Amino acid sequence: MSEPNSRRPFHVIIVGASIAGLTLAHCLSNTGIEFTILEARSDTYPDGAGLVILPNGARILDQLGLYQDVLDQGQCMVSHSTWLGTGHLLRRVDAGRIRYLRRTDYPVLIISRRTLLGILYTRLQRSLLFFNRRVVRVVSSPDKVTVHSADGLSVSGDLVVGADGVHSTVRKQMWHHIRKVHDANSSSRWLIEVPLTDSFAGIFGVAQSIPGLDRGDIHRTYGHGWSTLLMVGADCRVSWFMSISRIMMPGLVPRHTSDRACVSRIVEPFLEKHVTSNVTFGEVFNRSDSCIMVSLEEGFQNRWSWSRFVGIGDAVHKMAPNIAEGANCAIESAASLANHLVSFVNGSPLYTEDRLISMLKAWEDSRKRRTRGLFIISQCAIRIEATTSWVLKLLQAFLAQCHETGIGLLTSITSRTARVDHLPLPLPQQSSAHQLLNKEHENVWSMQLSLLSLATATSLMFYVLHALLL
Ligand SMILES: Cc1cc2nc3c(=O)[nH]c(=O)nc-3n(C[C@H](O)[C@H](O)[C@H](O)COP(=O)(O)OP(=O)(O)OC[C@H]3O[C@@H](n4cnc5c(N)ncnc54)[C@H](O)[C@@H]3O)c2cc1C
Repeated sequence: MSEPNSRRPFHVIIVGASIAGLTLAHCLSNTGIEFTILEARSDTYPDGAGLVILPNGARILDQLGLYQDVLDQGQCMVSHSTWLGTGHLLRRVDAGRIRYLRRTDYPVLIISRRTLLGILYTRLQRSLLFFNRRVVRVVSSPDKVTVHSADGLSVSGDLVVGADGVHSTVRKQMWHHIRKVHDANSSSRWLIEVPLTDSFAGIFGVAQSIPGLDRGDIHRTYGHGWSTLLMVGADCRVSWFMSISRIMMPGLVPRHTSDRACVSRIVEPFLEKHVTSNVTFGEVFNRSDSCIMVSLEEGFQNRWSWSRFVGIGDAVHKMAPNIAEGANCAIESAASLANHLVSFVNGSPLYTEDRLISMLKAWEDSRKRRTRGLFIISQCAIRIEATTSWVLKLLQAFLAQCHETGIGLLTSITSRTARVDHLPLPLPQQSSAHQLLNKEHENVWSMQLSLLSLATATSLMFYVLHALLL
């Protein structure tokens, strides 16, 4: 029999030890909330190319005491250039000119996914993390939840958190329970799992250094049915990804493959395309040690929690990678869930299901307000950048002119940006000289803001019209 609520600590079972799960674990450390992490992988450092840490993610990592490591091992963005596949430069923006970046004190940081996970893992109390534990079943009752792994382990707790990525088993188990309890044929949107879409395939890779691609540079290229993003890291290695519209793909291709011959066949038509004026995609691909093709699923779930289940990160808001918010939003969702859990536990020692459900609902509603907007922007971004429609192509050049403002707005820290409430905010380091500079750019900024709003409105209008007409 389980102990009365008031006599035992609240126990969270986190499924998935990647960006969302490990961040949540760090946020819960030293709060009095117990946690266990179950991870399917057998090793600590999985594959993956480059990630960008934006100020919203950086501030949380700073609060957790991890930011200095990220800064030391990452590379600050120096410039962001937008190209056409012909090698024509649409726009180059120097990082120093992006006003919001100067204001937040956090640069846009390029870091490999492997390095970031290494930092999150190394600084955690590891006795609470179990590798080789693939969760296959979750059983929920009014007073506890029990999580079962494929190898027969079972762990009970007060709440299970699905931080297990886009194909989340926890999410699937939650829906299994929902369908059992509610009418399985109901058409209410709250009772239907949102299916993932995969209109694009993504190929990720890491290439050895390439002459002409300098440390800290980010290069974005728009093609016909494809787009690329290249990020040059601290070691001059180039992390890259290519999004390809499904309509450009030959016949049957696997959803996920790291088979070089298969990936080579898929990228063959793009090898001659330019990713900068002097570098072709073929040069980047041929210098890549590793590459992997995955489906670029997108999905924003209507329901993030139910009973003693909750999801964070890609499990509930899987975005296209073009605006680089996937990992940063996962960090934010983890921090904001931790805030609600800490208030919940401090509020009363009674961890009843009813109290838990209303806390999770409040968290979910507040998080959705912030995340939905970013999800829609990521949907628009990938469709405009890798479009085959000449109508949307007209927008590419226009949007490229607004990148400075776009990056500024996307990276800005607002009142809705999550932080860890129980940890102090890092001290501002902004100098008065910076503030003066900011004032000088105020007028330019207002003009750019209006331009961006106009561009966004126009893009959305074209996007909707285009979708309706097809
Ligand atoms: C292999 C891989 C490579 C990626 N590379 C890039 C990249 O180069 N650039 C980029 O911008 N984005 C990349 N992404 C996406 C980006 O990292 C995500 O947006 C971000 O990591 C979201 O974090 P998450 O913790 O929600 O999910 P994920 O990072 O997907 O992590 C989910 C974790 O859950 C574990 N898991 C899954 N199922 C179970 C289960 N049943 N039981 C226990 N554990 C389970 C997985 O092993 C994984 O560790 C990559 C994602 C993956 C999975």
